[in-house]
Amino acid sequence: MEYTEIMVRYGELSTKGKNRRNFIDRLHGNVEKVLYKYPDLRIHPKRDRMHIILNGTDATTIMNHLKVIFGIQNFSPSIRIDKDLTAIKELAFQLVLEQYQPGKTFKITTKRADHQFEYDTNQINLAVGDYVSDNIPDIQAEMRQPDIKIQVEIRQDGAYLSSKTFKGAGGLPVGTAGKAELMLSGGIDSPVAGYLAMKRGVDIEMVHFYSPPYTSEHALQKAKDLTVKLAKYAGNIQFIQVPFTEIQETIKQNVPEGYLMTIQRRFMLRLTDAIRQQRQALAIFNGEAVGQVASQTLESMVAINDVTTTPILRPVATMDKTDIIKIAEKIDTFDLSIKPFEDCCTIFAPPRPKTKPRVDKAQQFEAQLDVAGLMERALKEIEVTNITPFDSYLAPVDEQISSLL
Ligand code: ATP
Ligand code: MG
Repeated sequence: MEYTEIMVRYGELSTKGKNRRNFIDRLHGNVEKVLYKYPDLRIHPKRDRMHIILNGTDATTIMNHLKVIFGIQNFSPSIRIDKDLTAIKELAFQLVLEQYQPGKTFKITTKRADHQFEYDTNQINLAVGDYVSDNIPDIQAEMRQPDIKIQVEIRQDGAYLSSKTFKGAGGLPVGTAGKAELMLSGGIDSPVAGYLAMKRGVDIEMVHFYSPPYTSEHALQKAKDLTVKLAKYAGNIQFIQVPFTEIQETIKQNVPEGYLMTIQRRFMLRLTDAIRQQRQALAIFNGEAVGQVASQTLESMVAINDVTTTPILRPVATMDKTDIIKIAEKIDTFDLSIKPFEDCCTIFAPPRPKTKPRVDKAQQFEAQLDVAGLMERALKEIEVTNITPFDSYLAPVDEQISSLL
């Protein structure tokens, strides 16, 4: 079938008024950002749906892009024809036939936006249903759980028919919740935390610490590759790399071994917060999970968190590792994350970090260091890269779900 448009249904649109406008405007912008390569498309964001007119562009390609855009509940490829009952009946029959196998049931559902149209929804349902039954003698109509659902929409400019509904990514459009910094390591957890943040509408920027020559180019590239994987959900992501070598060496020389990890983490958080402030972001996300490793006990979080009052959000805080891994596999970051390039934390990790560090001690050890100078020099050397997704992520649209109409 030659589809003429994709009809997009919005996600969690429980909010009204200004928020609704903001939701739709953002989603519109995000859809345009992802689909800019297809100049023939016309995108019309309406109050309760978005219509993407294909003008000859391949429907499957566009649907593959739509699948990863947050704020979309589901979408249906549709065919526009003239508002002529005979034509509608014939097309509906063809659409049923496409999916029909002996034993399958069907249902016609009509919506009428154009109230001038000479038939009402019941009359259309009946006429089209009868036509299908006449032409496929063994088929049964089924109102509750039909196998094949044909949706007919009568609008001002024509009749729109669809027979398939695909599941969208859900969530809220990226950007509706404002901007935040994500502390991205090369591990499994922080990319998952980033995905979950974006799913709630947060526009994230990656902050990554690296320590040449102790960490290799591969470790840095791995963090960038992870960002490429996540960029498809946002259109693009800023990657901010922060040199951490001088700070780690200084800490190693001046701080007792039990507090190396705590003090390093306090510096990371301070630097991330300074970057957040410079770039006018609202919050910080990280991939910490309670109890996973020594740096992630509640005592440790208290000792690290002491350096800022900025909200720190930890989307995977209470998840089991196996569940985090499931998401990492789904978003295709897992295979990259388990590549064995050591990052700056692994290399300077003390063999026995304190699992219950004390805030006063951390402050005391830090007082020996030139915190401001170390921070200033690291911040002066940050590099920012704009990272965009590759097209290779496009997988076939497979998951067909039932219509919400
Ligand atoms: P991950 O799988 O995300 O690396 P992890 O279980 O290995 O997490 P840690 O190494 O203790 O845990 O790191 C905890 C969090 O600190 C990470 O999730 C990340 O948000 C942040 N972090 C760790 N290392 C870095 C780094 N090199 N650059 C930026 N953030 C980092
Ligand atoms: Mg890690």
